[in-house]
Amino acid sequence: MNAAPPMRTIELRKLSFRYPNGRVALENLSCCVDQGERIAVVGPSGAGKSTLLMHLNGLLPSPAMTQEAQAQVFIESIPVIKGRLPEVRRKVGFLFQDPDDQLFCPTVREDVAFGPLNLGLAQAEVMLRVNRSLAAVSLPEHGARNPSQLSTGERKRVCLAGVLACEPSMLVLDEPTSNLDPRARRQLLEILRSFKGTQIIATHDLDFALDLCQRAFVLDGGKIQADGPVEQVLANPVQMDRHGLEVPWRLRRGA
Ligand code: ADP
Repeated sequence: MNAAPPMRTIELRKLSFRYPNGRVALENLSCCVDQGERIAVVGPSGAGKSTLLMHLNGLLPSPAMTQEAQAQVFIESIPVIKGRLPEVRRKVGFLFQDPDDQLFCPTVREDVAFGPLNLGLAQAEVMLRVNRSLAAVSLPEHGARNPSQLSTGERKRVCLAGVLACEPSMLVLDEPTSNLDPRARRQLLEILRSFKGTQIIATHDLDFALDLCQRAFVLDGGKIQADGPVEQVLANPVQMDRHGLEVPWRLRRGA
């Protein structure tokens, strides 16, 4: 008997986006992502990586988000349009590059509880999830602390705990390893490896991409320039050089 085809988690249909100042950041992006895939989005600064990620959660209003017929992004078949954003955001956990964009409560516990409370969950369930998520990011004793007094790595893990506490079906992570020391980076890798849902990770950390992801997109000039198995894409010296990237040492011939 044939196995059921994998479920599509993300579909982009000719996604284009222009900022209000006229800057075109994404041009005609089309692709499909299956349930459980972990995809690295790599490319030079200004390639459009953050802009692409923000579209997966409807964070950038655009004319295409006003009507279903014009929708360019679908999450588990739900069009990312204004009227469907609460549903989309329940499915997509978004981790911003800068933890200070995500943390605003006086204590870690309140910050992690914010998302689940917004989902309308009962207090007991919220507390359960907060404790579970803080344990998952190895910060079980930090609930009463003020996030502003934590290290960058710890603040990033608090943000991730807040995302995990909402139990999303997919994670979208913008430069998750930036400013992390090797130990915090390794801990993050383990947390993300244990998350079973789809993950889209914009990163300059190509070794992290190799350790975590099966597939990579090279984005440059707002277009997907390459899409394939991560080792194959990142080992192509001509393509990597063309898009301002370098083949990681471990993929270099003779390394
Ligand atoms: P990346 O994440 O790959 O560095 P971005 O998605 O941040 O790239 O940016 C893509 C392009 O859009 C760049 O040319 C950038 O200058 C431009 N851009 C980003 N944010 C804005 C904004 N708020 N207003 C105008 N242009 C922007």
